[in-house]
Parts: sequence; C-alpha cells; structure tokens
Amino acid sequence: SYAAIGIEVNVDHLTAVAVDLAGQPVLSWRRSFPGATERGPRSVTAVAALARRVIARTERDGRQVLGLSVAVPGLVDPHGRVSDAPGLGWRDVDVVGDLTRALREPGFLVDVGNDANLAALAEHRFGPHAGVSDLVYLTGEAGLGAGMIVDGRLRRGSAGYGGEAAHIQIDPAGPLCRCGRRGCLEALAGIGAVVRRASANGDEPDARDGTVPFSDLEPEVDEVVARARAGDRQVLAALEAAGRDLGAGVAVLVNLLNPRTVVLGGHYAALAPWLLPAVDKELQERAAVPGGGGCQVVASTLQRDAAALGGAARVLEAVDAGRLPFD
Ligand code: BGC
Ligand code: ZN
Repeated sequence: SYAAIGIEVNVDHLTAVAVDLAGQPVLSWRRSFPGATERGPRSVTAVAALARRVIARTERDGRQVLGLSVAVPGLVDPHGRVSDAPGLGWRDVDVVGDLTRALREPGFLVDVGNDANLAALAEHRFGPHAGVSDLVYLTGEAGLGAGMIVDGRLRRGSAGYGGEAAHIQIDPAGPLCRCGRRGCLEALAGIGAVVRRASANGDEPDARDGTVPFSDLEPEVDEVVARARAGDRQVLAALEAAGRDLGAGVAVLVNLLNPRTVVLGGHYAALAPWLLPAVDKELQERAAVPGGGGCQVVASTLQRDAAALGGAARVLEAVDAGRLPFD
C-alpha cells in the first residue's frame, strides 16, 4: 500500500503526517521547534532529517511513499523556491532542490507550498467542508495568511504569491506592521496581535507597534483562553475588538471571492468562541449582500495539523491526476 507525507515547518513547530490513499492518517508527529537557535539554512537540514525519519517509519510499516510536500510560512514560487519566509529566516531557499539532494534520488514527488494554501487544500479534501467549491482558510499561527479555493481549485496567483492577506490594510492609523505600513490585518488581528491586545492591561493596544516577534505563542494563547473562560472583562473586550478587526479582513475576502465557508485555523480555532461573534457582526456590516452571500465563518477542526495534512493532500492530488506513482 501507499502513503503520502506532509510536513509543516513553522516558526515554533515541526509537524509531520502520513496518510494512506483514502486520506486516513497512518502517522502523526509534532515537536516544538526552537526557532531562534535553528533558524536560517540549518532549518532545511532539520526538515530533511525529519523527512528521512518519517519516510523510514512509513516504509517500515510496509507502505511505499508516493511523495512529500512541505508547508512553509511564507512566499513560495511555482518552482519550489521559498522567496521569503521571514519567521524562518529563509530567503530565496531552493527547498525542493535541497530536500531532493538531501534525500538522494528519492524516487517520489518532493514539493513545497505556502502553509495557508496547503491548509486550505486539507480543509477542502479532509475537513467537514470537503467538497465545498469556494472556501477561504485563514492561518492563525505566528503569521496570518489566506488559502483560497475558488471553483474547487486552489488559487495561488500568477507567481504563486496570492492570498497574502496579512497586509490587507484595516486601519491606516493602526499599529505598525512588519511590512512598514500601519494597521495591516496581521498587525491588528494576527495571533501575536490578539495575544498582545489581550494582555495590554486595560490600556488601548499599543497603537504604535504591532510587530510582534515570531515566537511560540501556544502558552500565551492558552493563558488568553483561560482568562476568557474565567470571564476576565479586559480579555473579553480585547477579543471582541480583535475579532472586529479580523471580521473587517474577512469581509474584504468575502466581498471579493464570495466563499461558502471561511475557516479560521491554527490558534484561531481555540479562540473561536470569543472571536466568531465579533467576526460575524463585522462581516454583516461590511458584506456587499446580506449574510455575505450565504457565507459561514467556522473554526477549523483539523486545527494545527491542517498545513501538514495539506501537504499530504497535494501528493494525493498528483495521484488523482495520474502523475503518481512514478514508474
Ligand atoms: C506570511 C504568509 C504565511 C502566513 C502564515 C504570513 O506572515 O506572509 O506567507 O502564509 O504568515 O504562516
Ligand atoms: Zn503589513
């Protein structure tokens, strides 16, 4: 039997999954990634080492590996080069080439894609919205990105850089973004910003600087969830405000693409009980048509495996297209 492998390399974690041809997971693995010490070119080496182990495990279980796709939090061109993944410190890294060399004539597909794009693919193939023809996925990890399924197909744009929703400007007078401009969606409602706003101690979120350093946000998100559950009014107000800003961004995407479903992924899923009502409210106010044209905003059920599962989905797509297995 066969297996397809997906690996997500993100700012704070590495995730690997293998699925069979029916899309059933046969292996799932995650470890936190000590970002700062392993950033830069060395990270590709770490990915290759993980890939080798996952391949070996899969083969030991009697499955032939059909392919491997790696999800990366940044700009990926159609040739498998990562132009820029700031959180990893990767600039113009030939991930497909480096991995192929490291795996020494693997004899299977080696591929790389943007994390949000691959997560959208996973939702579309494995999620409860499987088969929905128009779906947008928003990444709630260290960064914010969008994956867009339009008419049943992932749309990556002419050069592969579509869906960079982080820099949709919501408030020209808002906090500074990594990109140098102000009030971008990521600076207002990315997970780093949500955490920062929730812990701003009653003050307005720092309106000057939204450039949150990339780091492991899991402990902070857990803390925000605990305080929200306990009814902490400051945290609830911050989540409502951040949800409003997120909703403004969602409305832009909804007005452009008219999706049936918008999936909030990553850490957004844990925060969804508090973010969703505000997102919905803002969407209602800004949607071109009442109800956003039948759009539903939901939390991801694939949660933090989505991007890795999307890597596996990408390999299965090649099987569907008759391009795999290679002879
Ligand atoms: C990057 C996107 C990425 C997103 C989620 C953003 O900062 O620009 O390419 O998809 O983070 O990781
Ligand atoms: Zn920006």
